[in-house]
Amino acid sequence: MNTVTEPAPSVIDNQPRDPRRQAFEANKLSKKLHRQIGQAIADFNMIEAGDKVMVCLSGGKDSHALLDLLLSMRERAPVAFELVAVNLDQKQPGFPEHVLPEYLRARGVPFHIENQDTYSIVKKLVPEGQTMCSLCSRLRRGILYRVASEMGATKIALGHHRDDMVVTLLMNMFFGGRMKGMPPKLASDDGRHVVIRPLAYVAETDLERWAAHRAFPIIPCSLCGNQDNLQRVQIKAMVRDWERQYPGRSDNMLRAMGHVVRSHLMDPKLHPFTTLRASGVPDPAGDKAFDDDDDGCASPAALPIRLEQG
Ligand code: SF4
Repeated sequence: MNTVTEPAPSVIDNQPRDPRRQAFEANKLSKKLHRQIGQAIADFNMIEAGDKVMVCLSGGKDSHALLDLLLSMRERAPVAFELVAVNLDQKQPGFPEHVLPEYLRARGVPFHIENQDTYSIVKKLVPEGQTMCSLCSRLRRGILYRVASEMGATKIALGHHRDDMVVTLLMNMFFGGRMKGMPPKLASDDGRHVVIRPLAYVAETDLERWAAHRAFPIIPCSLCGNQDNLQRVQIKAMVRDWERQYPGRSDNMLRAMGHVVRSHLMDPKLHPFTTLRASGVPDPAGDKAFDDDDDGCASPAALPIRLEQG
């Protein structure tokens, strides 16, 4: 009797696929990720010749993907730079401390594990039921900056991606009353380091697919038992929902962050509203005041403007 073998599900989209199709999809995703990261690095001059880049590896999918993709990009990069992975073991109960060293050794990546029991500090200082993330992040940041100095790292690479950046902008607008996002590159608040986010153009769903394809040893981010920030969870779900309904919207929001028209916002520190006078000279690039497309109702053909085609 003949038996029919079901094709294995693809790790890229969990649909049955033949192996050649899977390899094709993985290759396509790989090219897209390399292109987007390369573009972000170039656009913001994130990595320069001779840099020692400290990649913060939490064990989650994003930081795993960041390290993995930077390693392969370094091989074909036009400039030479160093990569070193750093994991901060915060002594959360059940943290599988052998996982990352074994993985990094197997891949031949130079690494450092920093052992600091921030978990106990946070537990002691934050009242039961309140979110621990703010203090935890502050402690982590200080430790990572210190480690970067000790290692002589010139750049600190974080695994935040496009969706983190869009969600942060909306969070700050909705709850903080300010137009402030998450920059792709910034000087650290201690003034001594440059922090970079090479995944700035990458969609989280693509990182999920890449992590599944590469079978990274993921360490769950829930070991501390802390609940995720509910507001962030809600905004993230909203952005994902928008993206499903209107593909390209997240890329458009990201583009908007890089295309600020100061004269059409309301910050007098950025534009001299109080001293503004009519110049008497027409400006072809100037305000159209009441044109239809100023309210976002541009012709459907013009939307969405994709940052990156698949
Ligand atoms: S989820 Fe846990 S480990 Fe992550 S920032 Fe919050 S308290 Fe810290």
